[in-house]
Amino acid sequence: MASPSEIRRLFMEAYMRRFQPERDPKRIRVHEVVSCLRKSFLTRVFPRPIAAEKAVILFIGEHVHLILGEELRRHGWRVEEPVEAMRNGVALTGHPDAWRDGTVLELKTIFTLPREPLEHHLRQTRIYMALTGAGEGYLVYIGRGRGGVRVFQVSPCGGVLDWAFGRAVTLSRCLLEMVAPPKEPGWLCRYCEYVDLCRNLGESFKYVDDTAVTEGNV
Ligand code: SF4
Repeated sequence: MASPSEIRRLFMEAYMRRFQPERDPKRIRVHEVVSCLRKSFLTRVFPRPIAAEKAVILFIGEHVHLILGEELRRHGWRVEEPVEAMRNGVALTGHPDAWRDGTVLELKTIFTLPREPLEHHLRQTRIYMALTGAGEGYLVYIGRGRGGVRVFQVSPCGGVLDWAFGRAVTLSRCLLEMVAPPKEPGWLCRYCEYVDLCRNLGESFKYVDDTAVTEGNV
């Protein structure tokens, strides 16, 4: 018999198999720099299963991307193709949802459509615009709750790659030296798998090893 807990476990197993963190500390993904850097660090150093409910939501989002991506590709968009830039020996890598002819589309599934674009989504779209040389961007929210769609036009931002590389180089150095970046508290902490570990690490940079956490600086 299939029980809810068995089905949830299947989702979690599928998540752990499909979403592997990048292992090379010199290669930093765009989603890592727009997230809390400490969370991005901990996700690589101490991989943990996510909550089953979160895995279900992620897979729903992934299938929306799959279906829309197929249609966009038929209309000539480049879908989920890798983009990359390098500075100071660190590669910033990612996969814009869709882009062509100087335009980037970022697709987000969300339960309730936001009135304004979320800050980390805006940054992600602007980074992809910079990495693809696009002058136009659109952030497309698709509502899981009521099936609505909301689209925000995104203007380019000249300094966004400097900002992104600043964070990418910090994260890379933290990974190489096993130093946890400072906390970046915000509403996303409510959904973070590392609240306990983050609390133990305190506010600022800290060295981490297998058995002990001690004060340090970078
Ligand atoms: S609890 Fe908040 S500050 Fe700490 S790692 Fe998670 S997202 Fe970052």
